[in-house]
Amino acid sequence: MDKAVGSTLRDTLNFIDGEYRSSGKTFANINPATGEQYSVVHEASKADVDAAVKAARKAVDGEWGKMPTPKRIEMVSAIAAEINRRSDDFLEAEIADTGKPHDLASHLDIPRGAANFQIFADVMKQHHGEAFAMPTPDGTGAINITSDRPRGVIGVVCPWNLPLLLMTWKVGPAMACGNAVVVKPSEETPSTASLLGEVMNKVGIPHGAYNVVNGFGPDSAGEFLVSHPQVDAITFTGETRTGEAIMRNAATGVRPVSFELGGKNFGIVFADCDMDKAIEGTLRSVFMNCGQVCLNTENLLVERPIFDEFVKRLKAGAEKLKPGAPHDKACNMGPLVSDEHRRKVLSYYEIAKKDGANIVTGGGIPKMPTELEGGFWIQPTIWTGLKDDSRVVTEEVFGPCCHIRPFDTEEEALRIANGNQYGLACSIWTENLSRAHRIGPKMEVGICWINCWFLRDLRTPFGGSKKSGIGREGGEYSLEFYLEKSNICIKL
Ligand code: NAD
Repeated sequence: MDKAVGSTLRDTLNFIDGEYRSSGKTFANINPATGEQYSVVHEASKADVDAAVKAARKAVDGEWGKMPTPKRIEMVSAIAAEINRRSDDFLEAEIADTGKPHDLASHLDIPRGAANFQIFADVMKQHHGEAFAMPTPDGTGAINITSDRPRGVIGVVCPWNLPLLLMTWKVGPAMACGNAVVVKPSEETPSTASLLGEVMNKVGIPHGAYNVVNGFGPDSAGEFLVSHPQVDAITFTGETRTGEAIMRNAATGVRPVSFELGGKNFGIVFADCDMDKAIEGTLRSVFMNCGQVCLNTENLLVERPIFDEFVKRLKAGAEKLKPGAPHDKACNMGPLVSDEHRRKVLSYYEIAKKDGANIVTGGGIPKMPTELEGGFWIQPTIWTGLKDDSRVVTEEVFGPCCHIRPFDTEEEALRIANGNQYGLACSIWTENLSRAHRIGPKMEVGICWINCWFLRDLRTPFGGSKKSGIGREGGEYSLEFYLEKSNICIKL
């Protein structure tokens, strides 16, 4: 994907029908750790998107679609193995696009990117149909057999926060099921999607089964893709507002959507928690990936008797975080993804001030060494004292920050957390087993963690309630979206 061009800049190309293609229109890819451009991204035109969709259709109708399932599963496993073999290349690309710490990308993003192919190869091995025998009035009976087939061409629109991980979370099951995909990676982080094209060719995936078109949303590759009439289904991860725009396009042709959207996740810390565990887990859940994980906690409710101690210890932990260069082992926090995103997060830091927050720590931009001064760095930030209707408390910020508020009863905590417009995830901290069982099912979220955060078994359903999404993905649940079921009724 990346050919060296000129002296230092690289080209990130579209990948269509098994080949890398340049385009007449390019845009800059900026390294968020330095603020410097490091690649030139080729923006797909409407004609490029059309070519990618047609190549995908040809793959579904051709060798890829006709491939026996065991052979296809073997190839999907081989994709996982090849990502692992080229882990260093993927790491380098992901780090340059996001600025995230090497340690995080090497433990989370890249291995999960590979695992997302392997798990769905395994799921497909176990997948089977059902049969229902039924009596008929004439006494001969009938048998119903459920059968499924790939939906066809899947449009995959991705965000920038965990680029390879979230893209393969959709491409893995889609391809394991025999669909062809056209991926539109985020304009901020296009490199790993493009690099994956090399893996597909190395493994021998038939041309057209995997395509990548680069560009933006409205009036660019994103919109061209989701409005293309030959895209049979759309899977999207990103902001709720973008989901609404995509849904309007998907309405034409009544095409199915699977949406993983925004969140405003709560942590509820009871006085009967194990404080060490709660602090350690909450530091991760607020600040990991510089607060740019959809599952991050941004609202903390802490039972009043332990409120002061919790705030003091979370502040101490936040102040130990060290922003710095991705390969510097002494550092454990990356930058925000872009200047634009930092301006958005800083605008919430300003709202917090105006709304009278008590700034426990942070609230601005850290002093960085000269070589990193142009990067999009930001201070980990904690507030207390905001009212429940402050925009900082109700809207997704997507930065390394949280608001902490005391509560007095379990009912009050439930009412506040469930009063939220989103419903993606929450973390409850309590050592009381009965309370854990009682409260878990009452949380209006897709995933409720008790005494942990971001602990994922990839076979379980994952998704959001309310404005956080439509549908569930993971294990067999993904197959409900990527396979179309039919019933064959045979009268005997
Ligand atoms: P975004 O919605 O701005 O962009 C996501 C993708 O959509 C990008 O590729 C963008 O180019 C494309 N896009 C934008 N407008 C479009 C349009 N009109 N038509 C087609 N495509 C369009 O999201 P982001 O800023 O990249 O990611 C951050 C958001 O993603 C946060 O809200 C976060 O909570 C959410 N997210 C959710 C999950 C989850 O699992 N629920 C996971 C990760 C991120």
